[in-house]
Amino acid sequence: MPKTSEQSAASGRRFDTVLIANRGEIAARVQRACRELGLKTVAICSEADRQAPYIKTADHFLCIGPSAAGRSYLNQDAILLAARLTGAGAIHPGYGFLSENAAFADAIEKAGLTFIGPTAASIATMGDKIAAKRAMMAAGVPCVPGPDSALPDEPEAIERIALEIGYPVIVKASGGGGGRGMRVVLKADQLHEAIALTREEARKAFGSPALYMEKFLEHPRHIEIQVLCDDHGNAVWLGHRDCSMQRRHQKVVEEAPAPGIAPEIIQPVGMACVQACRQIGYRGVGTFEFLYEDGAFYFIEMNTRLQVEHPVTELSSGVDIVQAQIKAAQGDVLDLAQSDITCEGHSFECRINAEDPDTFLPSAGVVTHLTLPQGPGIRVDTHIHPGYRVSPYYDSLIAKLIVHAPTRAKAMARMCEALAGTEIEGIATNIPFLRALFQDHAFARGETDIHYLEHWLKLRR
Ligand code: ADP
Repeated sequence: MPKTSEQSAASGRRFDTVLIANRGEIAARVQRACRELGLKTVAICSEADRQAPYIKTADHFLCIGPSAAGRSYLNQDAILLAARLTGAGAIHPGYGFLSENAAFADAIEKAGLTFIGPTAASIATMGDKIAAKRAMMAAGVPCVPGPDSALPDEPEAIERIALEIGYPVIVKASGGGGGRGMRVVLKADQLHEAIALTREEARKAFGSPALYMEKFLEHPRHIEIQVLCDDHGNAVWLGHRDCSMQRRHQKVVEEAPAPGIAPEIIQPVGMACVQACRQIGYRGVGTFEFLYEDGAFYFIEMNTRLQVEHPVTELSSGVDIVQAQIKAAQGDVLDLAQSDITCEGHSFECRINAEDPDTFLPSAGVVTHLTLPQGPGIRVDTHIHPGYRVSPYYDSLIAKLIVHAPTRAKAMARMCEALAGTEIEGIATNIPFLRALFQDHAFARGETDIHYLEHWLKLRR
């Protein structure tokens, strides 16, 4: 039975100081959420990030290692030591780096601290794509056709599975991530070579040769559902996002809600996600990613962390997802029922990257001039300022431009204005490319699939 607030008092894991184990815009975003909740913050940084603005505004800060992420932001021992030295009671992992590392979550809890995220067991299950698919099928979440078990070794047995699914199929590494460790097989004569190559890649890159196979969907959209859960069996979904605008499996623009999907179609999928969360004892925030084709949803994976694109959902639902995540980690009872959640209007997010707008090669250097857009319905999440040095060591995301308006068309117009009002000099950015994309007619009509952006880019060359 879900608990009420009176019953929760005993189960809370209160903390008053949060160490933010990340950098860049998300470190600034989490710090803001902590402050609003009356919590103290600890910033950590690498040598390259000593001048970051969130370092100056934290209650404590520690430089934990050299610029290379492997020796700083991925150094679990250094982060745990920093927490001990500063008296932090909890660690927020942000996204990327150690955010989906079950061993890190476990080490934090074993050190008597709170990991602001789900349990290590939930992270481990969802990090193993076969285990995740099995859990989702058991919970009634619709999945891509194909078995929820690892491929056998015998060639004939593999051929039978492919025939049962029907070509084209996709072979995926169970431990894969970041768009790596998968191969599309169009015809039977390509099957065994594809399996051998993917298995080898999986063994080397992910430390496990386990593969699985499913139907390859040819023109899907990427639709995802944001969930929010407490530790007492309460869970809600905060609406859906469309993240189909991708280049090399990297999201470029996200929006909420997904255009052209009727509430009665998405509703049962959202409720199945909520049900799955209860079934696996999920805590905190998470995202169920689906492919959507011909009116049907197919689960592909669950992200057990805060996502880059969470602000589009914040603007349409009015829920501060980061604060809600922190409160869930403290053992608070969720103060939202599903009926309280009414998503209104439309929001877009553009990822502003320090990269060449034509070649997409990363661009490092000093920001010599910065003008950010202002006005109603415009939000900018960033850590950069004039004089800021963009480091070549990390991801090229330097800002997120987020807009909200009553309709999709108005939100698009607002994003055009916001992009026109953004000036970043000293480094190259993808802003010219985003401005052109927001003039595109097919994008304006909505419902473009995950291949659309790559085709659009080819046509412009
Ligand atoms: P990762 O963990 O590496 O991000 P995902 O399982 O989320 O892997 O898949 C990444 C991308 O690969 C998807 O967004 C989609 O573009 C493509 N993809 C994955 N599974 C399928 C499938 N069954 N059919 C078509 N495309 C797929």
